[in-house]
Amino acid sequence: MPEKTPPAVHLNMNVRGLKPSATLAVNERSNALREAGRAVHKLGLGQSPFPVPEEVVQSLRDHAAEKDYLAVKGLPALRQALCSYLERTQGLSFDPANILIGPGSKELMFILQLAYYGELIIPSPSWVSYAPQARIIGRQLSWLPTRIETGLGVEPDSFAAACEEDPDRPRLLILNYPGNPTGMCYSDSQLQEIADIARKYRVLLLSDEIYGGLRFDGQHKSIASYYPEGTIISTGLSKWCGAGGWRLGAFVFPPELQWLLDGMAVVSSETFTSTSAPIQYAAVKAFEGSPAIDRYLDDSRRVLQALGYEYARRLRDCGAALADPQGAFYLFPNFEPVREHFVERGIETSAQLCEAMLEEAGVATLPGGDFGRPSNELSLRLAYVNFDGEKALAAAKDADDINTDFLREHCSPAMDALDAMCDWLAATK
Ligand code: GLU
Repeated sequence: MPEKTPPAVHLNMNVRGLKPSATLAVNERSNALREAGRAVHKLGLGQSPFPVPEEVVQSLRDHAAEKDYLAVKGLPALRQALCSYLERTQGLSFDPANILIGPGSKELMFILQLAYYGELIIPSPSWVSYAPQARIIGRQLSWLPTRIETGLGVEPDSFAAACEEDPDRPRLLILNYPGNPTGMCYSDSQLQEIADIARKYRVLLLSDEIYGGLRFDGQHKSIASYYPEGTIISTGLSKWCGAGGWRLGAFVFPPELQWLLDGMAVVSSETFTSTSAPIQYAAVKAFEGSPAIDRYLDDSRRVLQALGYEYARRLRDCGAALADPQGAFYLFPNFEPVREHFVERGIETSAQLCEAMLEEAGVATLPGGDFGRPSNELSLRLAYVNFDGEKALAAAKDADDINTDFLREHCSPAMDALDAMCDWLAATK
């Protein structure tokens, strides 16, 4: 037998050295630890705990036999349903021709960065995948500094300063709220200020509103109201409809950016072809909505809000700096105020913090460094989603007040995770 000489390892330099996405890696690691018999509190991957509403699941069953490739830009009925949804929920008016459907908004974000030529600007911290997508494509990346006191979001001043460095440079700013990893939202006046700067420097804005339906007060408002001509809205089914694994995302463009939609559709046609047909049919039902879906959303928000407040309060009691969340299901505690307790135990980076918490307390979270924070800052992201959402929703229907007793009874794994984390943190003192 001749000696085997397989092709040499010539991995694209933009991919070389990258690790699998942190959110997915922590999930697989947690599952492997559980299979090996370890008790793991899974606060790593941010996946909705709630089931997909029954009528949406029924619609998927009804359309399981849909087997044809659909139009690249998406099923017309779904694009229409999305327009009606945006009109109904936010009073925004779009035409179905303004909509692009894809297999998850994450894929659409990648294609956007590929099709648009510009520098990516994101606040630190930001969701784990925006920056690696820029790196894979070979785009410049600029992180905006943030402050805990203002919720770790985009600060108009630093955004303006970044633009002023080279006013004509093409730029893409991704704004995500309710925010992953912080749970924060922007006020109307903050949105207006950011929009004014974006308009002045002709910055393309991607408003990642995948958690919009999970803003606790139910009052989500897109920055597209303030900067319609330059904003793309990103949305989907993954979070508010509990359907992350269905992989259905949508981008909504203003008519002024039709060229970009068309360019992205070319790339779509040469890569994923079209989004899964049965899923698109079922998504029509989700975006059309119903009183039962409204109720589902209302109860989802009440449970998440109560749990988010409980987590934030207890973590502050342990010395962490963080604000109450306003939506989604994440928190980003910063333990710098009690840094010395950790340093005594040899914990000096966010990666070491999360590793020790997983090894010693069995709680899986993600290091702040994965979200663009300095690696020596003691911060982490947790997703307070490890409970049986179906059970919690059933109980929430009859509960006027979702209090600590309710959470102990109906979201007990999430409360156990919080106890385990706080006990471990207390032991570091
Ligand atoms: N967006 C979720 C998270 O941040 C999970 C999905 C993903 O990262 O692709 O945990």
